[in-house]
Order: sequence, then C-alpha cells, then structure tokens
Amino acid sequence: MTLTLETGWQLGVRSQFPLLTGNPGVAYLDSAATSQKPQAVLDAVMAYLTSENANAARGTYPWANRTTARIEEARDQVRRFLGARGAALSPFTAASGLPARDTSGVHFVDGTTAGLRTVALDWLVSYLSDGDEIIVPFADHSANLVPWLDAVALLERQGVRITVRPMPYDAAHDYDVARLPIGPRTRFIAATHVHHVYGNDMNIHRLRAAAGPDIAICLDAAQSFGHMPISAEALDVDFIVFSGHKAMALPGIGAVWAANKRGPAFQPAGWSGSPNTAGIVSLAAAMDWLSSVGLSRISAYLIALGGRLTAGLSTLNSYEVLGCQNSLTAGSTVQQRHGIVTFRHREIGSNDLGFILASDGLLVRADDHCQGSQGEKTSSVRVSLHVYNTPAEVDRLLSVLRALD
Ligand code: PLP
Repeated sequence: MTLTLETGWQLGVRSQFPLLTGNPGVAYLDSAATSQKPQAVLDAVMAYLTSENANAARGTYPWANRTTARIEEARDQVRRFLGARGAALSPFTAASGLPARDTSGVHFVDGTTAGLRTVALDWLVSYLSDGDEIIVPFADHSANLVPWLDAVALLERQGVRITVRPMPYDAAHDYDVARLPIGPRTRFIAATHVHHVYGNDMNIHRLRAAAGPDIAICLDAAQSFGHMPISAEALDVDFIVFSGHKAMALPGIGAVWAANKRGPAFQPAGWSGSPNTAGIVSLAAAMDWLSSVGLSRISAYLIALGGRLTAGLSTLNSYEVLGCQNSLTAGSTVQQRHGIVTFRHREIGSNDLGFILASDGLLVRADDHCQGSQGEKTSSVRVSLHVYNTPAEVDRLLSVLRALD
C-alpha cells in the first residue's frame, strides 16, 4: 500500500490536541504508554461535569438518570466499536430511575491491568477444574501474565492443580501457533492483539484456528483499541480488554467485553459501586472522535509511519531494531508494525539515549517495557506513535539518531 503521509487531514487532526499545539518543540513519541487527548474529549468531560454531573443508578432526579443512561449508551457503544453482536440496548426507564439490565457484555474497569485481573479472578478461577491446562504469554506485557498466575496460585491453595504452559514465539516475536502446546485439557489461552514492544499484530485469527473452537481466548487489546478496526466477530475471542487512556480517553477507564458464548462469563458489577462517570463520558467521546477520523485510516497511517522509522533505522549502523531480524528490508513485517518501533544503540545505554532524545524534545520510553519473564532482558528505546504524530517528527528523531550513529 502506498501512502501519502503528510496530508491535510492529518494536520487537521494534530491541531485538535492542545498539549501538542501548545508545545511545538516537543515530539510526543510515547503513545503506547498513554495517548494525548483531543479537544473534543476534553470538551465532553467538561460539559458533562458542568451540566449534569451526578452518580449513576437509582437516582430520582434527571442528572442521575441521564448519567445512568449515558453509561448504558457507552456500554453499547463499546460493544459496537468492538464489532460485537449483541442484543439491542436494554430499554432504560429514565422515569423510574431503575438500573437497566446490561445486555452489551461490556463491563467498565479501570483499564487493561484491572480488566485482565477481573477476567482472571472473577471468571477463570470458577471456569477451571483440577487437571486443566492454560497457555499464557510470558513475553508479552506482565499485565497479561501475572493475573493468570495469581488465579492458578489461588486455585492451588484450594487443592485445584492447573498446568501453565508458555505461549511459543517465533523469531519475529509472533506467536508460533504450529507449536501451540494444546492438549485435551487445555481450556484457556491469554493472548495479546498488538505487542507493546514490537508493534506486531499477533495474528489472533491464526491462534483461534490452531486452538479450535473449544478453548476460551482472552485478548489484551491495550495497543490495538483505537489504533485499528477491531472485529470481535472475526477475531472470535471470548474476552477483549482495553484501556481508554491509550486511545484518547482519560486515565482510569477501560472495559472488558465478554462474548458470553460459553455461558454468562461473570456478573458485571456495573451498578455495585460508583462508576467512573467522567471517565466513561471521556471514553464515549474518544470513540466518537476515533470513528470520525476513521480507524482504517488511523491504522494505515500508523503502519506507514512505523515503516518510515524502521526504514530510516535500517540505514544506520549502530542500531538494532527488536523483533525485526528478518524484516528490515522485507516489506511484510515492516508493514506489521502498528506504530511501535523498539531499538537499541550498540554502545549508548538506552536510558542515556532516552535522556539525550528528551533534551531534544523527543519524548520516548526507555527501559525494559514491563515484559514478562521471557521478554527482552536488556533495556531498549521504544517509539510509539499515534495519529497526531507526523512524518516530520519521525525524520527529526532519525536525524538525532543519525548524529549518534
Ligand atoms: N497490556 C499491554 C499490551 C500494554 O501495553 C499495557 C500498557 O502499557 C497494559 C496491558 C497495561 O495497561 P494499563 O496500564 O492501562 O492497565
């Protein structure tokens, strides 16, 4: 695919981010950690807080009922945004103020870490039986590893023994589905949609095909939600978990979507505590904003921008790009990098490189990136892009890196 990178639409997008327009000397290249926020999201939160802020459910007055309705609508919006089939939004009876029954399969949580933990401790522990096996990714983000190991430890204390098998990887850090350690007792696989260090699309359809239909799959979509179109139907997974703050919304809000195809996954706790109403409003506004820009357009742009960076790095001698062994010149793998490129300088330590880049206004992430025990052991520099980044920023980064070559 040939893409024109510097386009009118993209400049129009960038101008909607006040922190970026207010700091023209800064290139924010750390969006895998958290995204910047467009004015539309900030406006939606401010409008909500200054017009009808209230707690949700059981209200006897309009602000509370409107807040409850907004949350119901946002649940259904998440379901649609994830391309999941579902019952139509349950009729919310604003007049009575009674909490509506959630039919969306969407459960709001703080973010991906909390969501994966919810799936592990509210569902997996009751789904597994003595002698079952699970497959978990030891080289992905530790948020997608520790909760599963905690669930197994909890079961073990109750005398239920579960075998944990590591997810196999190939040389390019994709899942090696040909070596998937599936046995008759394998019941669950934890997987990641886009890797937070290598930027790979982990090819979940291949994982589902190798696993067959009877194994539950939970998908960590922290780096794909809001970066590409997601189709829960096509991915055919049981759970999708994501964070809003990496996709233009405020921190402290995310969701678990459950397909409920093996029976009701868990009782959503939506109304048992006070929800993060402003966070949910921000997530709804972020999804509207992302849809208006277009997820396919965002995805193609991030792939092209990541490709520009890897192509530039491949002309330098001192840098090793992680997860790219066979692919710096082979278009296909470069094409798979969804705006995340991680590398090391052969002589300059990554933290030092991070400080050098920061002194030039280039804000990257340097260190070990929270990978599980099979992840990279030495630290590296991660550049992670979103739709507000420009080719000029990538070129500026490359010219500083070239000066250190
Ligand atoms: N999973 C992946 C792939 C991530 O990249 C991250 C954050 O970087 C997380 C999980 C954890 O997300 P959060 O800190 O929003 O809970």
